[in-house]
Amino acid sequence: MSCIFCKIAEGSIPSVAVYSDELAYAFADLHPQAPVHILIIPREHIASMAETDESKSTLIGHLHSVAAGIARDKGLGKGYRIVVNTGSDGGQTVDHLHLHLLGGRPMTWPPG
Ligand code: AMP
Ligand code: ZN
Repeated sequence: MSCIFCKIAEGSIPSVAVYSDELAYAFADLHPQAPVHILIIPREHIASMAETDESKSTLIGHLHSVAAGIARDKGLGKGYRIVVNTGSDGGQTVDHLHLHLLGGRPMTWPPG
């Protein structure tokens, strides 16, 4: 398996861990776009949201709950943004499903 995020989840590529359980792993983004920029991934390899169906809904919900918990722990009471880039038009560059948790500054809308 050559997937970089699978290797991060299993620990063979180093990362700054933020949260870990049997289903999910969260770590600091290497190129932060906000004061808080954390990636939340499933331990299972899923290429993108486009590869998911109803059978993954519990896991996807769990990833969002993990993100909300991290946001609370990081003191993001003024708000934050969860982003899931999907496919080339969506700006996805790593083909392992991941949630970006961004916070610590006001976000703009619309996104680029
Ligand atoms: P996306 O463009 O939505 O696929 O996001 C991929 C994200 O992964 C980018 O924000 C990168 O900065 C981040 N990234 C890539 N490689 C690493 C790594 N080894 N450790 C932490 N973050 C990474
Ligand atoms: Zn993977």
